Amino acid sequence: MQFPPWTSIDDAARLLHDGEVVAIPTETVYGLAGNAYLPSALAQIFAIKERPTFDPLIVHICEISQLADIAENIPDVAYALAKAYWPGPMTMILPKKECIPDLCTSGLPSVAVRFPSHPVAQEIIWKAGVPLAAPSANLFKHVSPTTAEHVAAQLADRGLAGIVDGGPCNVGVESTIVSLVGEPTVLRPGAITPEMIAKVIGDVKVKESTSKPGQAMAAPGQCDTHYRPQVPLFYGEIPEGFELPKNCVRIAFGNRPGVIPATLNLSESGNMLEATAKLYAYMHDLDDPKYDLILVDPIPNVGVGMALNDRLKRASIKIIDSNR
Ligand code: AMP
Ligand code: MG
Repeated sequence: MQFPPWTSIDDAARLLHDGEVVAIPTETVYGLAGNAYLPSALAQIFAIKERPTFDPLIVHICEISQLADIAENIPDVAYALAKAYWPGPMTMILPKKECIPDLCTSGLPSVAVRFPSHPVAQEIIWKAGVPLAAPSANLFKHVSPTTAEHVAAQLADRGLAGIVDGGPCNVGVESTIVSLVGEPTVLRPGAITPEMIAKVIGDVKVKESTSKPGQAMAAPGQCDTHYRPQVPLFYGEIPEGFELPKNCVRIAFGNRPGVIPATLNLSESGNMLEATAKLYAYMHDLDDPKYDLILVDPIPNVGVGMALNDRLKRASIKIIDSNR
C-alpha cells in the first residue's frame, strides 16, 4: 500500500462494504469508518484507535428513513430533530435494533445515530449500502483530525485500508450528542446548541460536564483527559505568579491582550464558528516538541462556545501539574 493510502470514494465504499476500515471526511471531524453490521470491522476500529471497547461508536446514515433500520421505538421528537438539524452535526441516542452488534454500543441497549452533511460522507455511506460506525480517526484521547493529513500522521501505518481526502472539516468539533432515551438530555455539547434543540422539542436537559477534578466519568468519551496534544496545553486565565516556561505559544481568541503575543488567533473578531473550525487544526499545528506549553485564551461559555470549553477543559493540564 502506498503511504499515505489515499483512496477514492468508490474504492472506499467497496472496501467498507467488504468489512475494511477507511478514514472518511465529515463536517465535524474525520471518522474512522467501518460497516456497522460487522463485528469484525468494529473490532478493527477499536484496535486501530486503541479505543477501549466500553466506549460506544456512532452509526452514520445517509437518509432519515435509515433511522428505522437501526433504532426502534423512535419518538416523534427524534423525527422533529432530524427534520430540523439533519443532515448535520447532531447525534441522537435511541433504543437499538437487534441488527446492531453489541460491540458497536458497548453492550448498551441504545445506539448513537448521525446523518452527516458532508457530501463525500453521504456518497460513501450511500455507495457502501450499509450504515457506517465511525469514531474520530485519531488515537484514543488524542486531538481529533480535521484534515486528511492529520489522519495520516496518526493512523496511516496502523492497518486501515485507506483515507479519503475531503478537505478541511468546516464545523471542526465532534457532534452534539442528545439522548432521547428517557428525558431528552444533551450528553456532549457541539455546534447544535441546547437552545437550538429546545426550540424544536420544547425542553432539554444538559448533562453536567464531568471534567471537574475528582469527579468520576459518566461515559468514557467524556473522560477528564481527552483531546490532549503531546505538548502540555493550558486553557484559561494564567494564575497570578505562575512562571511561564521558556518556549510558550499562545492561541488567542478575539483581541484581548495576553501574557505573551498571540501565535495564532482562532478569530480576531470573536466569531465562535470560525474559532470552532480552527481549534483542532491549531492544536495539531502547535503540537511540536520544540514548544514547552500551549496557552489558549478563555472563550465565553455560551452557545457553540460550550463545545469549545468542554474540549479545551479536557485538553488542559491543571496548572498544579505544570508547577511540579
Ligand atoms: P465519538 O467519540 O465522537 O466517536 O463519539 C462517541 C461517543 O458517543 C461515546 O464516547 C459516548 O460518549 C457517546 N455514545 C455513543 N453511543 C452511546 C450510547 N448508546 N449511549 C450514550 N452515549 C453514547
Ligand atoms: Mg473521538
